[in-house]
Amino acid sequence: MKIAFIGLGNMGGGMAANLVKTGHQVAAFDVSEEALARARANGCATFGTVSEAVARAEAVVTMLPNGAIVKSVYTADVIGKAPVGALFLDCSTIDVATARDVAGLAEAAGHEMVDAPVSGGIAAANGGTLTFMVGGSDTAFEKARAVLEPMAKAVIHAGAIGSGQVAKMCNNMLLAIHMIGTCEALALAEKAGLDPQTFYEISSKSTGYNWSLNDYTPAPGIGVRSPADDGYQGGFASALMLKDLRLAMAGASAAGAVVPLGEHATKIYEAFVEAGNGGKDFGAIFTTL
Ligand code: NAD
Repeated sequence: MKIAFIGLGNMGGGMAANLVKTGHQVAAFDVSEEALARARANGCATFGTVSEAVARAEAVVTMLPNGAIVKSVYTADVIGKAPVGALFLDCSTIDVATARDVAGLAEAAGHEMVDAPVSGGIAAANGGTLTFMVGGSDTAFEKARAVLEPMAKAVIHAGAIGSGQVAKMCNNMLLAIHMIGTCEALALAEKAGLDPQTFYEISSKSTGYNWSLNDYTPAPGIGVRSPADDGYQGGFASALMLKDLRLAMAGASAAGAVVPLGEHATKIYEAFVEAGNGGKDFGAIFTTL
Protein backbone atom coordinates (compact mmCIF):
# COMPACT_ATOMS: atom_id res chain seq x y z
CA MET A 1 0.00 0.00 0.00
CA LYS A 2 1.14 3.60 -0.63
CA ILE A 3 1.22 5.26 2.78
CA ALA A 4 2.19 8.88 3.54
CA PHE A 5 3.67 9.33 7.03
CA ILE A 6 3.83 12.84 8.53
CA GLY A 7 5.73 13.38 11.80
CA LEU A 8 8.82 11.17 12.12
CA GLY A 9 9.87 12.00 15.68
CA ASN A 10 10.54 9.72 18.64
CA MET A 11 7.40 7.70 17.92
CA GLY A 12 6.71 8.26 14.21
CA GLY A 13 10.26 7.39 13.12
CA GLY A 14 10.02 3.80 14.35
CA MET A 15 6.39 3.42 13.27
CA ALA A 16 7.19 4.43 9.67
CA ALA A 17 10.15 2.02 9.65
CA ASN A 18 7.84 -0.85 10.68
CA LEU A 19 5.47 -0.05 7.80
CA VAL A 20 8.43 -0.26 5.39
CA LYS A 21 9.51 -3.60 6.90
CA THR A 22 6.11 -5.13 6.07
CA GLY A 23 6.35 -4.09 2.41
CA HIS A 24 4.43 -0.80 2.36
CA GLN A 25 5.75 2.10 0.25
CA VAL A 26 6.14 4.96 2.71
CA ALA A 27 6.28 8.60 1.55
CA ALA A 28 7.52 10.57 4.55
CA PHE A 29 7.61 14.21 5.66
CA ASP A 30 8.80 16.03 8.77
CA VAL A 31 9.86 19.63 9.35
CA SER A 32 13.12 18.28 10.84
CA GLU A 33 15.95 17.41 8.40
CA GLU A 34 17.41 15.04 10.96
CA ALA A 35 14.14 13.09 11.16
CA LEU A 36 13.98 12.93 7.36
CA ALA A 37 17.53 11.56 7.16
CA ARG A 38 16.63 8.81 9.68
CA ALA A 39 13.49 7.97 7.70
CA ARG A 40 15.54 7.66 4.47
CA ALA A 41 17.98 5.33 6.26
CA ASN A 42 14.95 3.22 7.25
CA GLY A 43 13.73 2.87 3.67
CA CYS A 44 11.15 5.69 3.41
CA ALA A 45 11.01 8.00 0.39
CA THR A 46 11.18 11.57 1.73
CA PHE A 47 9.59 14.75 0.37
CA GLY A 48 10.08 18.51 0.81
CA THR A 49 6.42 19.26 1.64
CA VAL A 50 3.39 17.50 3.14
CA SER A 51 1.44 18.03 -0.10
CA GLU A 52 4.04 16.16 -2.16
CA ALA A 53 4.23 13.31 0.37
CA VAL A 54 0.43 12.75 0.33
CA ALA A 55 -0.10 13.28 -3.43
CA ARG A 56 -0.33 9.55 -4.31
CA ALA A 57 -1.25 8.15 -0.90
CA GLU A 58 -3.90 5.49 -0.31
CA ALA A 59 -3.56 6.19 3.43
CA VAL A 60 -2.10 9.11 5.39
CA VAL A 61 -0.74 8.54 8.93
CA THR A 62 0.10 11.50 11.17
CA MET A 63 2.11 11.37 14.43
CA LEU A 64 2.42 15.01 15.52
CA PRO A 65 2.97 16.90 18.79
CA ASN A 66 -0.48 18.47 19.41
CA GLY A 67 -3.97 19.26 18.17
CA ALA A 68 -3.15 22.70 16.74
CA ILE A 69 -0.43 21.21 14.52
CA VAL A 70 -2.64 18.27 13.52
CA LYS A 71 -5.43 20.65 12.47
CA SER A 72 -3.11 22.94 10.51
CA VAL A 73 -1.38 20.05 8.71
CA TYR A 74 -4.71 18.48 7.66
CA THR A 75 -6.45 21.71 6.66
CA ALA A 76 -3.48 23.29 4.85
CA ASP A 77 -1.74 20.32 3.27
CA VAL A 78 -3.57 17.00 3.45
CA ILE A 79 -7.28 17.63 2.77
CA GLY A 80 -7.57 18.58 -0.90
CA LYS A 81 -4.02 17.35 -1.65
CA ALA A 82 -4.33 13.59 -0.98
CA PRO A 83 -6.34 11.60 -3.58
CA VAL A 84 -10.08 11.54 -2.81
CA GLY A 85 -10.88 8.32 -0.95
CA ALA A 86 -7.51 8.12 0.82
CA LEU A 87 -7.93 7.00 4.44
CA PHE A 88 -6.64 9.37 7.15
CA LEU A 89 -5.27 8.03 10.47
CA ASP A 90 -4.18 10.48 13.16
CA CYS A 91 -2.13 8.64 15.80
CA SER A 92 -1.13 11.77 17.75
CA THR A 93 -2.47 12.35 21.27
CA ILE A 94 -4.79 15.37 20.93
CA ASP A 95 -8.01 16.76 22.37
CA VAL A 96 -11.29 15.06 21.52
CA ALA A 97 -12.89 18.20 20.04
CA THR A 98 -10.08 18.75 17.51
CA ALA A 99 -10.10 15.06 16.55
CA ARG A 100 -13.85 15.27 15.76
CA ASP A 101 -13.47 18.63 14.02
CA VAL A 102 -10.69 17.49 11.66
CA ALA A 103 -12.50 14.21 10.90
CA GLY A 104 -15.61 16.22 9.95
CA LEU A 105 -13.60 18.35 7.53
CA ALA A 106 -11.98 15.23 6.06
CA GLU A 107 -15.34 13.53 5.62
CA ALA A 108 -16.78 16.57 3.85
CA ALA A 109 -13.88 16.30 1.38
CA GLY A 110 -14.49 12.59 0.70
CA HIS A 111 -12.16 10.90 3.20
CA GLU A 112 -12.78 8.41 5.97
CA MET A 113 -10.76 9.25 9.07
CA VAL A 114 -9.92 7.56 12.36
CA ASP A 115 -8.32 8.89 15.52
CA ALA A 116 -5.85 6.19 16.59
CA PRO A 117 -3.74 7.32 19.56
CA VAL A 118 -1.33 4.82 21.04
CA SER A 119 -0.32 3.34 24.35
CA GLY A 120 3.32 2.28 24.64
CA GLY A 121 6.43 4.43 24.37
CA ILE A 122 9.38 4.73 22.03
CA ALA A 123 10.47 1.11 22.55
CA ALA A 124 7.00 -0.12 21.55
CA ALA A 125 6.99 2.23 18.53
CA ASN A 126 10.35 0.81 17.42
CA GLY A 127 9.36 -2.78 18.20
CA GLY A 128 5.96 -2.67 16.48
CA THR A 129 4.15 -3.44 19.75
CA LEU A 130 1.95 -0.37 20.27
CA THR A 131 -1.68 -0.61 21.41
CA PHE A 132 -3.92 1.49 19.14
CA MET A 133 -7.28 2.74 20.44
CA VAL A 134 -9.28 3.63 17.37
CA GLY A 135 -12.26 5.94 16.93
CA GLY A 136 -14.22 5.86 13.68
CA SER A 137 -16.94 4.04 11.74
CA ASP A 138 -16.90 0.22 11.41
CA THR A 139 -15.75 0.43 7.79
CA ALA A 140 -13.03 2.99 8.53
CA PHE A 141 -11.85 0.82 11.42
CA GLU A 142 -11.56 -2.27 9.22
CA LYS A 143 -9.49 -0.34 6.66
CA ALA A 144 -7.38 1.28 9.39
CA ARG A 145 -6.61 -2.07 11.00
CA ALA A 146 -4.62 -3.20 7.92
CA VAL A 147 -2.46 -0.06 8.12
CA LEU A 148 -1.98 -0.20 11.89
CA GLU A 149 -1.26 -3.92 12.39
CA PRO A 150 2.44 -3.82 11.35
CA MET A 151 2.98 -1.28 14.16
CA ALA A 152 0.79 -2.97 16.75
CA LYS A 153 0.48 -5.48 19.56
CA ALA A 154 -3.25 -4.67 19.66
CA VAL A 155 -5.68 -2.62 17.56
CA ILE A 156 -8.93 -1.95 19.44
CA HIS A 157 -12.08 -0.28 18.10
CA ALA A 158 -13.08 2.20 20.82
CA GLY A 159 -16.22 3.53 19.09
CA ALA A 160 -17.20 6.50 16.93
CA ILE A 161 -14.75 9.21 15.88
CA GLY A 162 -13.04 10.81 18.90
CA SER A 163 -13.45 7.66 21.04
CA GLY A 164 -9.78 6.74 20.66
CA GLN A 165 -8.80 10.07 22.22
CA VAL A 166 -11.39 9.60 24.99
CA ALA A 167 -9.87 6.18 25.80
CA LYS A 168 -6.35 7.63 25.73
CA MET A 169 -7.12 10.55 28.08
CA CYS A 170 -8.95 8.29 30.56
CA ASN A 171 -6.16 5.68 30.48
CA ASN A 172 -3.40 8.20 31.06
CA MET A 173 -5.27 10.03 33.81
CA LEU A 174 -5.62 6.66 35.58
CA LEU A 175 -1.92 5.92 34.94
CA ALA A 176 -0.85 9.23 36.53
CA ILE A 177 -3.05 8.59 39.56
CA HIS A 178 -1.79 5.06 40.21
CA MET A 179 1.81 6.12 39.60
CA ILE A 180 1.55 8.84 42.27
CA GLY A 181 -0.26 6.46 44.64
CA THR A 182 2.39 3.79 44.10
CA CYS A 183 5.19 6.31 44.84
CA GLU A 184 3.41 7.44 48.01
CA ALA A 185 2.95 3.86 49.24
CA LEU A 186 6.60 2.92 48.57
CA ALA A 187 7.84 6.07 50.37
CA LEU A 188 5.45 5.56 53.28
CA ALA A 189 6.46 1.91 53.71
CA GLU A 190 10.11 2.88 53.98
CA LYS A 191 9.54 5.85 56.32
CA ALA A 192 7.34 3.68 58.57
CA GLY A 193 10.11 1.12 58.92
CA LEU A 194 9.27 -1.53 56.31
CA ASP A 195 11.91 -2.62 53.78
CA PRO A 196 10.49 -1.28 50.46
CA GLN A 197 11.48 -4.49 48.61
CA THR A 198 9.45 -6.47 51.16
CA PHE A 199 6.55 -4.05 50.65
CA TYR A 200 6.86 -4.64 46.87
CA GLU A 201 6.80 -8.44 47.37
CA ILE A 202 3.64 -8.16 49.48
CA SER A 203 1.68 -5.44 47.68
CA SER A 204 2.45 -6.69 44.15
CA LYS A 205 0.62 -9.91 45.17
CA SER A 206 -2.10 -8.13 47.12
CA THR A 207 -4.87 -5.64 46.40
CA GLY A 208 -2.25 -2.91 45.83
CA TYR A 209 -1.33 -4.70 42.57
CA ASN A 210 -1.13 -2.25 39.70
CA TRP A 211 0.97 -1.61 36.56
CA SER A 212 3.07 1.19 38.09
CA LEU A 213 4.08 -1.05 41.02
CA ASN A 214 4.31 -4.42 39.28
CA ASP A 215 5.65 -3.54 35.82
CA TYR A 216 7.36 -0.17 36.25
CA THR A 217 8.41 0.05 39.93
CA PRO A 218 9.33 3.75 40.38
CA ALA A 219 11.85 3.27 43.25
CA PRO A 220 15.48 2.51 42.30
CA GLY A 221 16.60 -1.03 43.07
CA ILE A 222 13.09 -2.17 44.08
CA GLY A 223 10.82 -4.55 42.16
CA VAL A 224 11.26 -4.79 38.39
CA ARG A 225 13.86 -2.90 36.38
CA SER A 226 12.50 0.48 35.20
CA PRO A 227 13.72 4.02 34.32
CA ALA A 228 14.14 4.53 38.12
CA ASP A 229 17.20 2.28 37.82
CA ASP A 230 18.70 4.59 35.16
CA GLY A 231 18.27 7.89 37.00
CA TYR A 232 14.75 8.29 35.50
CA GLN A 233 16.20 8.72 32.00
CA GLY A 234 14.23 7.32 29.03
CA GLY A 235 10.74 6.00 29.67
CA PHE A 236 7.74 8.35 29.53
CA ALA A 237 8.67 12.01 30.08
CA SER A 238 6.85 13.90 32.84
CA ALA A 239 6.19 16.73 30.35
CA LEU A 240 4.26 14.30 28.12
CA MET A 241 2.30 13.02 31.12
CA LEU A 242 1.42 16.62 31.97
CA LYS A 243 0.29 17.20 28.36
CA ASP A 244 -1.99 14.14 28.61
CA LEU A 245 -3.36 15.21 32.02
CA ARG A 246 -4.21 18.66 30.67
CA LEU A 247 -6.07 17.02 27.76
CA ALA A 248 -7.94 14.87 30.30
CA MET A 249 -8.83 17.92 32.43
CA ALA A 250 -10.12 19.76 29.32
CA GLY A 251 -12.07 16.63 28.32
CA ALA A 252 -13.51 16.26 31.84
CA SER A 253 -14.58 19.88 31.89
CA ALA A 254 -16.26 19.58 28.46
CA ALA A 255 -18.04 16.38 29.54
CA GLY A 256 -19.06 17.71 32.97
CA ALA A 257 -17.19 14.85 34.68
CA VAL A 258 -15.96 15.12 38.29
CA VAL A 259 -12.27 14.14 38.51
CA PRO A 260 -10.77 15.33 41.82
CA LEU A 261 -7.82 12.92 41.77
CA GLY A 262 -7.15 13.74 38.12
CA GLU A 263 -7.05 17.44 39.04
CA HIS A 264 -4.72 16.75 41.93
CA ALA A 265 -2.42 14.62 39.75
CA THR A 266 -2.32 17.45 37.19
CA LYS A 267 -1.21 19.93 39.89
CA ILE A 268 1.50 17.52 41.09
CA TYR A 269 2.92 17.01 37.56
CA GLU A 270 2.62 20.77 36.83
CA ALA A 271 4.79 21.61 39.85
CA PHE A 272 7.25 18.84 38.97
CA VAL A 273 7.64 19.97 35.34
CA GLU A 274 7.85 23.68 36.31
CA ALA A 275 10.71 22.76 38.66
CA GLY A 276 12.71 21.68 35.59
CA ASN A 277 11.92 17.95 35.60
CA GLY A 278 9.92 17.72 32.36
CA GLY A 279 12.48 15.44 30.70
CA LYS A 280 12.56 12.91 33.55
CA ASP A 281 10.48 9.75 33.45
CA PHE A 282 7.11 10.27 35.15
CA GLY A 283 8.02 7.77 37.90
CA ALA A 284 10.49 10.38 39.20
CA ILE A 285 7.60 11.80 41.27
CA PHE A 286 8.95 9.26 43.80
CA THR A 287 11.96 11.55 44.39
CA THR A 288 9.67 14.35 45.64
CA LEU A 289 8.16 12.29 48.46
P1 NAD B 1 8.25 14.20 18.79
O1 NAD B 1 8.27 15.63 19.16
O2 NAD B 1 9.47 13.36 18.99
O3 NAD B 1 7.81 14.04 17.24
C1 NAD B 1 6.92 14.90 16.58
C2 NAD B 1 7.49 15.12 15.20
O4 NAD B 1 6.59 15.97 14.47
C3 NAD B 1 8.85 15.85 15.21
O5 NAD B 1 9.79 15.10 14.45
C4 NAD B 1 8.55 17.20 14.57
O6 NAD B 1 9.65 17.72 13.83
C5 NAD B 1 7.37 16.86 13.70
N1 NAD B 1 6.56 18.02 13.32
C6 NAD B 1 6.18 19.07 14.09
N2 NAD B 1 5.42 19.93 13.37
C7 NAD B 1 5.31 19.38 12.13
C8 NAD B 1 4.64 19.79 10.94
N3 NAD B 1 3.93 20.91 10.89
N4 NAD B 1 4.75 19.00 9.85
C9 NAD B 1 5.46 17.85 9.89
N5 NAD B 1 6.13 17.42 10.99
C10 NAD B 1 6.04 18.17 12.09
O7 NAD B 1 7.01 13.57 19.59
P2 NAD B 1 6.71 12.02 19.83
O8 NAD B 1 7.25 11.62 21.16
O9 NAD B 1 7.05 11.24 18.62
O10 NAD B 1 5.12 12.08 20.03
C11 NAD B 1 4.24 12.21 18.92
C12 NAD B 1 2.82 12.06 19.43
O11 NAD B 1 2.68 10.79 20.08
C13 NAD B 1 2.42 13.11 20.47
O12 NAD B 1 1.10 13.51 20.22
C14 NAD B 1 2.59 12.37 21.80
O13 NAD B 1 1.74 12.90 22.81
C15 NAD B 1 2.19 10.96 21.39
N6 NAD B 1 2.75 9.90 22.23
C16 NAD B 1 4.07 9.92 22.59
C17 NAD B 1 4.58 8.89 23.38
C18 NAD B 1 6.03 8.87 23.79
O14 NAD B 1 6.39 8.06 24.67
N7 NAD B 1 6.89 9.69 23.21
C19 NAD B 1 3.75 7.82 23.80
C20 NAD B 1 2.41 7.82 23.38
C21 NAD B 1 1.92 8.86 22.59
